[in-house]
Amino acid sequence: MRYQNKPAITFIVFALSLLSTPAFAELKETYTGLFDEQSPVTPATTTPQQDPELEARLNELMDGDFTPSNHAALEELLRTVDVGTPIETFVRAQGYQIVSLAMEQKLPAALAIADEVLIIAEKSGNPNAIAEVHIDIAEAYLANSDYAAALAQTKKIEAWLPDVTNPRVRYNANHLIARTLQQNGQIPAALEYLLAAQTLIPQTEPSEQQRRRQFLNLHLARIQANLGRWQASAETAERAITEALRTGNTNHLADLYLIAAYSRQYQQGPSDEIVAAFLKAAEAGKQLDNPRVEMLAYNNAGAAKLLMEQLDEAKLYLEQGLAIAKQIGNVNERSVTEFNLGYIKVLQGQHEQGLQEMLAAAEVFNSFAQKREQAILLSHIAKAYEVAGKYQKQAEILKQQVQMTSELAAAERDQKVNELQVRYQAAEKSYEIKLLEQQADLQTQELAVQQRQQQLFALAAGSLVLLILLFAFGYRKTRKLNALLNEANAELHEQSLRDPLTGLYNRRAVYDQLLRDEKRLYTGNHAVFIIDIDHFKTINDKHGHSVGDEVLIEFGRRLKQAVRKTDMAVRWGGEEFLLVLEHVNAEQVLQVARKLLNDISEKPFHTSAGRLHITLSGGCRVIASSRTPPNWETTVKDVDTLLYQAKSEGRNRIRYQVPGAEPETLVVH
Ligand code: GH3
Ligand code: MG
Ligand code: MG
Repeated sequence: MRYQNKPAITFIVFALSLLSTPAFAELKETYTGLFDEQSPVTPATTTPQQDPELEARLNELMDGDFTPSNHAALEELLRTVDVGTPIETFVRAQGYQIVSLAMEQKLPAALAIADEVLIIAEKSGNPNAIAEVHIDIAEAYLANSDYAAALAQTKKIEAWLPDVTNPRVRYNANHLIARTLQQNGQIPAALEYLLAAQTLIPQTEPSEQQRRRQFLNLHLARIQANLGRWQASAETAERAITEALRTGNTNHLADLYLIAAYSRQYQQGPSDEIVAAFLKAAEAGKQLDNPRVEMLAYNNAGAAKLLMEQLDEAKLYLEQGLAIAKQIGNVNERSVTEFNLGYIKVLQGQHEQGLQEMLAAAEVFNSFAQKREQAILLSHIAKAYEVAGKYQKQAEILKQQVQMTSELAAAERDQKVNELQVRYQAAEKSYEIKLLEQQADLQTQELAVQQRQQQLFALAAGSLVLLILLFAFGYRKTRKLNALLNEANAELHEQSLRDPLTGLYNRRAVYDQLLRDEKRLYTGNHAVFIIDIDHFKTINDKHGHSVGDEVLIEFGRRLKQAVRKTDMAVRWGGEEFLLVLEHVNAEQVLQVARKLLNDISEKPFHTSAGRLHITLSGGCRVIASSRTPPNWETTVKDVDTLLYQAKSEGRNRIRYQVPGAEPETLVVH
């Protein structure tokens, strides 16, 4: 397809803070003097740590992701807060001020207050308070695009996090760390924290949960787009849009429209439909007082038109975007629009002038954009050089671009990212069900008993689709339905960890059950096996796929029997299985290896095609207990190599390695 060679020049800049907070008066003066009179601080256990009345007022005020939007009311409230206020409430209220200032790009003022608040928090020794100040400081750096400083700050937060008990602070810490890691290009780790934040939402103030989920979903969509997973990103955003419209929670609606259109464009290529979607985002940005989104949306609409080679219309939209950028004083992101306008000039024959504008804009852009976005930009610069007939320059730029893209591709091959996304989405799904449940509870319950029984029966079978249909048809629910729903939910989760054919765990379960608890694998010796059926393809070829399936089922059953109940047996791929044996010594591992070889090769498999003789090959490593968690990825890779060696040595054997020794091969006769 054309657009694949010529990727869209549409940039949403993920790099900047999400909010463009309307300016509000320099608050710092109001609070000078506040820190002068410092009362002696008594130990954490005896003084109250929160002021319930002030906390309730703050909850009521809080409507943004970082600060309340009603600054006047916040200012008013802050006047009643002083060093006599219980420490956690004191820090929370001051934090809103710190972050507000930072978002107005008044970083020094924000940090000055933070320093003083930190001293008071540290004196109190209260981990919730201390962590929260560190979060505010990191948030301030993020809002001012100082990602390295924010990252350094997260180390301090992580140090306090184990002692933090306040769910709101825990939640804030996790999503802040996620966003900081994302900005620093550490995507898998960012997803991990995003997931942690998500699991904390139910523990936070109920009135805020909906807003928090929207916020996390927006970030998930952005991370997915950062990774070039356009389909996933678009789906995440579209789901969140549906929910935003359903619940009337429109805080992020404009952003969501924008990212949905953006990801769809990369996936499908530019079209009038995509342009319309961008214009819708622009409209939402205008309605919801989010000029930044409005600007970006116009820029994207212009870029789409540019790609469709409708240059006049492109120019029109781009200029609309530029006008808004100038109005709100946005310099960084404006560079994208200027870049696109330069590009149009090149296409219209003003080569020198256009290229100059493009290069100047690119310099600004590269100062804050992420690698993926920079790579896309490069391909357009190359294209412009081509149009201008400067082939030498074009080649230079293309070389740079190839280098950058291959670096990106290497980072994306990370299997873990996939697993994490699946986990996040599974958790989101079950959340959605709960919400639907609550909603349905509010409705009157007048469904005929018989009808209900039928639905309950189907539900108990774990059918999520039916569940959604039920609501779609407006059926009412009863308490009993709720109980069954919860059951169905738990079952759904359990099912999502199982391989449907063999009933063994699937890959996801390894992450969900085993790797989630980091300590689990290094508190004692453990062994990892990867087992592969020999010449399995021949069975399929000779007897058909269904006989192959029979063999897989029986093979799985024998594997499970050969290990202890507590050992983890996983269907790792088609005819590959993974075993994790915890708390074992080398001798026990060898016994299991011998048993596996025997149990499979000695007794024939009874199938509908008759008795089949099956053998297996395996790789195995025994990992000694250690102080630090072993690297799971490396272990799996090593075991895979051992398996490969067992295959090339002639199959029907297990090649294993115990700590401190060279690999050896076990063959059973
Ligand atoms: P080797 O001994 O070297 O491992 O050879 P092999 O034939 O076992 O391995 P290969 O990877 O060439 O073939 C594996 C086959 O397993 C190919 C694939 O079609 C088949 N397979 C994967 N999943 C399933 C499944 O769920 N059911 C059936 N019946 N076959 C499957
Ligand atoms: Mg295989
Ligand atoms: Mg095989």
